[in-house]
Amino acid sequence: METADIVVIGGAVIGASVAWHLKVARRFRGRVVVVERDSAYARASTALAASGIRHQFSSETNIRISQYGTEFIREFRGPDGEGLSFRENGYLILASDAAGAEALTRNHLLQRACGADVALLSPAEVAARFPHLNVEDLTLGSLGLSGEGWFDNMALLRGLRTASQAAGAVWLRDEAVGFAMRDGRVMAVKLGSGGEIGCDHVVNAAGTRAALVAAWAGIPLAVEPRKRTVFHFTCQTPPAGALPLMIDASRLWCRPEGEGFIAGIGPDPDPAVAHDDFEPRYAEFEEVVWPLLANRSPAFDAIRLTGVWAGHYSWNTLDQNAVLGAHASCPNLIFANGFSGHGLQQAPAVGRGMAELILDGGYRTLDLSDLSVMRMGQGRPNTEAGIY
Ligand SMILES: Cc1cc2nc3c(=O)[nH]c(=O)nc-3n(C[C@H](O)[C@H](O)[C@H](O)COP(=O)(O)OP(=O)(O)OC[C@H]3O[C@@H](n4cnc5c(N)ncnc54)[C@H](O)[C@@H]3O)c2cc1C
Repeated sequence: METADIVVIGGAVIGASVAWHLKVARRFRGRVVVVERDSAYARASTALAASGIRHQFSSETNIRISQYGTEFIREFRGPDGEGLSFRENGYLILASDAAGAEALTRNHLLQRACGADVALLSPAEVAARFPHLNVEDLTLGSLGLSGEGWFDNMALLRGLRTASQAAGAVWLRDEAVGFAMRDGRVMAVKLGSGGEIGCDHVVNAAGTRAALVAAWAGIPLAVEPRKRTVFHFTCQTPPAGALPLMIDASRLWCRPEGEGFIAGIGPDPDPAVAHDDFEPRYAEFEEVVWPLLANRSPAFDAIRLTGVWAGHYSWNTLDQNAVLGAHASCPNLIFANGFSGHGLQQAPAVGRGMAELILDGGYRTLDLSDLSVMRMGQGRPNTEAGIY
């Protein structure tokens, strides 16, 4: 039987970051095997994301995770020396009632205490910076002044993958289909092609399929696929200037992309969907997205829809926050799941943290223990009251 020190199930951004931090950052000499069922990543969340990074979270851990993410994204270079095209235009989060303004203010104080470069803006200040926006119904805005924006998701994935391979990680195009278990530990990962890989540790980086993997070890995991439709459009008269990723008071999000913009919103209702259901919800554009866009800016009234796709969030139904680390009932299975729409920006810190758990037996740089998988079975939500 083939053996490895560490088998990573899932080779998109989280699995690739774990492999990179083990083999490149830590120069781990042991054998690391990454098993990926679709090396084209056609349906991986990583490939279908809006690729934003923000420091405007409501918990210190998530803020610090993204601060490392920003450092990493700024400095990262792919195999040919190319960067990640980081557009550091910030996030602009808008509130239109007293409760929203209060939440933005509370989060702002925490973000500033963590050293985030963010500013609260009155509606008049929002209008002065972004004159195309209708601010009549707003109570407050919060803007990231540096460190936030969006970047090339696939360049990050390619770069992590290529560098980890060059440092000795083995990437297998195969599907993990089960575990061989003994005494509450994973002894081997079974492969769709028929073989098995014996291992000391397994990392569950299977994205929306994470609960299937957890079930092989008898662990229930409240993570499920939720569909998000993304609309690309162009404006007859585009607003001028460097625009941020805007999260409207309605929770609609919108940011520049190429010659136009992309936008979307969490649907209501928001049911779990089948793993192979990637049919966009086309009606959402006319019924929800376009009216909200037009309400926020006259520039978003005369627009042309130029593209649509759907992707899946791996949705943690307990608290919409990452689920990390080892589970007491199977200590050599490491979870890196449940990112609920913010896992791309969390990949650098999560990869570093999982490498520390495996190699050092605990977190060394940033303590991620309040995102432990153990909270899931204990009904201890650690809610991220940010925006999805
Ligand atoms: C529309 C949309 C917008 C988003 N916008 C943002 C954003 O702006 N910022 C942000 O930070 N995040 C965003 N996200 C979320 C982000 O994309 C995800 O959190 C992140 O990509 C998760 O990465 P992952 O590696 O865990 O999962 P995935 O990218 O889904 O990868 C999981 C991989 O595991 C493989 N796999 C699964 N099961 C097996 C198995 N049994 N054997 C072998 N391989 C397996 C799959 O083939 C897949 O490649 C967005 C997501 C979507 C859908």
